[in-house]
Amino acid sequence: MKPAIWLDGSLCDPDSAMVSVFDHGLTVGDGVFETVKATEGRAFALTRHLRRLARSAAGLGLPEPDLDEVRRGCEEVLKAHPVPFGRLRITYTGGISPLGSDRGTAGPTVVVALVEAARRPDATAVVTVPWARNERGALTGLKTTSYGENVVALARAREQDATEALFGNTVGALCEGTGSNVFVVLDGQLHTPPLSSGCLAGITRALVLEWVGAKETDLPLDALYRAEEVFVTSTTRDVQAVHRVDSHTLPGAPGPVTAEALRIFVERAAADIDP
Ligand code: PLP
Repeated sequence: MKPAIWLDGSLCDPDSAMVSVFDHGLTVGDGVFETVKATEGRAFALTRHLRRLARSAAGLGLPEPDLDEVRRGCEEVLKAHPVPFGRLRITYTGGISPLGSDRGTAGPTVVVALVEAARRPDATAVVTVPWARNERGALTGLKTTSYGENVVALARAREQDATEALFGNTVGALCEGTGSNVFVVLDGQLHTPPLSSGCLAGITRALVLEWVGAKETDLPLDALYRAEEVFVTSTTRDVQAVHRVDSHTLPGAPGPVTAEALRIFVERAAADIDP
């Protein structure tokens, strides 16, 4: 099924929806985005996603997005394309700008696309990334379209039959994945890196902290090899157990703490579409 596209204020035909080749989001990655889970025509945790979009835009110095307009775009594509399970991708960029000049003169570009998606398996393999995530950079914690580093790391993971790559930061602490946050169980206690590690303030991470409870702890990257259980969280993965980190296996994944976290997450998410 073709995606549904909403571009700068109205629904468009996906085959003819066009963004300028001079859009600053395309030429220099001057944009921010959100991926929102859509089930049965409804967007999950949309208010949190819109708030994060606005925070990322502010961090990048983009004009403040009109969140009512973006919400309307989401509602319109959901109405036009009521897939049982999908992903809404919201992209907000600096807009059109002649090459070599500063950002957009014609106002920002706003795109909302809805695509059908496959559900993720219960457990997955991950690898660690051999370079560091900068926990003190200008873009740290912002969900910008400058995701090249994540694309390269994810390609390495795929070469090793894994679906996610986990970063340490510049001081060797566990940080996050290319598109997920990470939780580990050590001595029966659930931990996740704090935001100061440089990780994105993941919405699934926040919901697991609120609903399940975990300690925000600075951990060395090799805690992944000592952990009794590891799981990753994201909009597209929910709570997903990890059964292998590099060549180290975690037999029996999902273990009891992960299984309980997933159970609570699914139950609470089903009860509240916009927590
Ligand atoms: N970390 C990064 C770098 C991400 O891109 C994402 C989501 O795409 C996450 C973590 C998880 O965030 P969320 O749970 O809001 O999807």
